[in-house]
Order: sequence, then C-alpha cells, then structure tokens
Amino acid sequence: MSSTHSRRATSRRPRRAIVVAVVLLVVIASAAVAVAATGLGGDDEDPAARNVILFIGDGMGDSEITSARNYEYGTGGRLPGIDALPHNGRFTTHSLSRDGSPDYVSDSAATATAWATGTKTYDGAIGVDIDDEPWPTLLELAKKKGLRTGNVTTSAIQDATPAAQVAHVPARSCQGPEETAETCPDSALENGGSGSITEQLLRTRPDVTLGGGLEILEEEEAESGEYAGVTLLEQAERRGYQLVEDAHSLAAVESADQKSPLLGLFADQHLPVSWVGPKATRTGGEEPAVRCEPNDNRPSSQPSLAQMTEKALSLLDGEKGFFLQVESASIDKSGHDANACGQIGEVVALDEAVQAARAFAEKDERTTVLVTSDHGQASQIVQAGSNTRGLTATLLTNEGAPMTVSYGSAPKGVAQAHTGVQVPIAGEGPNAAAVADLNEQTDLFDLIASLLSLQDRG
Ligand code: MG
Ligand code: ZN
Repeated sequence: MSSTHSRRATSRRPRRAIVVAVVLLVVIASAAVAVAATGLGGDDEDPAARNVILFIGDGMGDSEITSARNYEYGTGGRLPGIDALPHNGRFTTHSLSRDGSPDYVSDSAATATAWATGTKTYDGAIGVDIDDEPWPTLLELAKKKGLRTGNVTTSAIQDATPAAQVAHVPARSCQGPEETAETCPDSALENGGSGSITEQLLRTRPDVTLGGGLEILEEEEAESGEYAGVTLLEQAERRGYQLVEDAHSLAAVESADQKSPLLGLFADQHLPVSWVGPKATRTGGEEPAVRCEPNDNRPSSQPSLAQMTEKALSLLDGEKGFFLQVESASIDKSGHDANACGQIGEVVALDEAVQAARAFAEKDERTTVLVTSDHGQASQIVQAGSNTRGLTATLLTNEGAPMTVSYGSAPKGVAQAHTGVQVPIAGEGPNAAAVADLNEQTDLFDLIASLLSLQDRG
C-alpha cells in the first residue's frame, strides 16, 4: 500500500512539475511578448489609465532619497509614499549637445523636455529639439484630447521643470518679455514669436497651475499684441484666470476649468524650503551632529506641496480624466547650495505629496502614480564625522546616529553641480509595471502618452 502510494506520488511529482513548468513558460512567454510588443509604451490589453500623476523630485537621485529616509525614518524605516510604490526601475538622464553628441550631465530644462515631448535636447532648451523645433508636450496633448491638466511646483511656475510642459523657447531664462527680447529674440511676441515662458503658459491654459513666480507677472508687460502695456498679472485676469496668493484663498477655490482656470502664485520667486540647518563647510563633517529645524522664513500662509497636490487632485478629478505634474523643485536648489536640511526636507515634502496622491489613487482604480527625478545631484553620504575634499555637514538622524553628507561636485566657492547618474522611477496603478527596467528618460513620454491614449500627436 505504502509502496504503491509512494510510487504514485513519485510518478505524479514530475508530471505536476512539468505542468507547472509549462504554465510558467506560457506566462513568461506571453509577458515577454507583451513587453517586447509595447516596451514602455504599455500593453493594449491593460485598462488605460483615466488619470496620470507624475511626481518629479528635481535633483533627487538614490543618494538624496537614502539620506532623507535615514534622517526621517531611520535605517529600518521607509518613506511612506515613495518607498511603498510597488514597481521600480531606472532612467538614463543624459542630454545632447547642439551637434547631437551626448552630454552626460544634463540640466532640468533638457531633462523635463525629454519626458514632456519624447525628444532629447540640449541643456537650457524648453520644449524644443536641438534644431529649436517645438514639439508638443504631454500637457498640451492631454488638453487637446479633452483631458484636464495641472502643473504644480515649489519653484517659480516659469522655472524649467514646469515650463517644459507649457512653453517652447530656446533658453530657460526667457521667463518674461524683457529677458525674452534680449536672449530669445526669435521667440519674442513683437518679433512674431510665441512669447516668453509666462506668456505661453497663460495661453496654454492648464486648468490648474500652482507654485511661485509672482514677481514676473507683477512687474513685466507684453511688448506687443492684445495685452501690450498691461502687466502679465492683469493679462491673466483678462484671460479669465482665478488668481490666488495664499493657502486660505487656495482652500476656498471650488472649481477650475477652461472658462476659469486656477493660477496660484504663492511666492515672488521660488517657495522657501521647509527645513533649515547647518550649511556644509570644509570642516562641517567633524562638527557635532544636529537636527534640522523648521524654516521660520516660510510663511504659514503658504501651502505645502501636499496641500497644493490635494487641491489640484480635487479640482481635476472627474469623468474626463487628467494629467497632473507635481514637482518638488528645491531638492535640487538645496543641493546646489550644499544645504543638507533643505534638501532632505524637500524630499520629505515630496513624499507627503506622494502619500496624498496614493490615497486618491486607492479610491480611483484608474490612476497611475509615477515618481521620478530629472537628474542626479551632488550629495553623498560619507563616513560619519569625516571631512572630505568637498563640503560636509553632520546631521543627527531620528535614530540618534550621526549622518555626514558631503558635497563635492564643484570647485570651492562655486555652486554644487548636477551629476550624470541614472535616476530611479517608481510607480503604481495601470501599466506602472512598465517602469521596471532601464529606460531612456524620453520613454516616459511614450508611457504616459500610451496610458492616456495620446498617441495621435497630430
Ligand atoms: Mg525643477
Ligand atoms: Zn539644478
């Protein structure tokens, strides 16, 4: 009995193994066919996403994510938003020189143009290729298809990352009419061009635009055209924009659409960072470890990135579907300043905004949430208490241990520079598994265009 039983069992085992192997092979083969057929462009059989929320941590490489996690949650902890995303991959970030040869260390204009338009370009370029030809952006294509659109940032709304979704100019500095006349004369309205970044933004007309950059709108005027001689702010009003300048009035906004789009301008230039702490110095590594502090110069009337994100989501939500880009801009700006607390606080602020988006996506099963960066930054976690050839600061993490951060990508006395490292991308929701590979930054355009069925680029 027992021997028969045992023989049967042994004779069955291989058969079961074969069945399992065949089933696995079929699954793997069909997955491989799907991946080969679509790549980052997505799988036609998957349900399309109704909404895509794209988060950008400017200058947020693995080093910046790790130091934020160590500091705020400890080695055993996790960033509740970013680290919880189930699909993870990497992006190359290089840009191009004018002659088309590779530029291994890119800026935020070329990288934002890469995912906004699917085209690699030169540093400084906004929405144009190396021949200065304009390419349609995800936000423009989404709008053309009748989707609702939003652009949220902690920088000035004219800064490179948000600008690359709404404007096409050959230099990122051409934010208002004055600079455009000087640096981008072919783009100037008076010369028959499309205008400065701010003027193009007002014409592109996303349903929701939130960030800083009030000063240019208050101070500058169009040189020609229908709005010549009035400030850009007045132009925005005449174009039907709802203008808000603090968290209280933002909270009171009930709707935002093409008739009455929302323009929230919460600072003259960039929004101040959330945290402050010791600036890195030549000998800062050996100083006693300290905690970061809240930034007293950040007005309480200013909305947080999470608050701006939540508001944008509540205004854009609906049957039409939406594309929303959200940027935490001053991870990068703090990196340039060798300011570890500023940098870490802005990663944490981004993570809080990601948590808000994940809560939204949990209720709406057709929302894809993606989190990535544009390029690497200077910070490195080095031996605790050590000095380096660069600038260092030692912070006290939430688990009571010293963590030394070093900045050394530029000569003494000069702002820290970007680095050419690949950056992480993570996501969840329909087709987010497509990020799990090494891809070109331009492939992000194809993924989002596919998710929102924007392929007809007209
Ligand atoms: Mg940026
Ligand atoms: Zn930068």
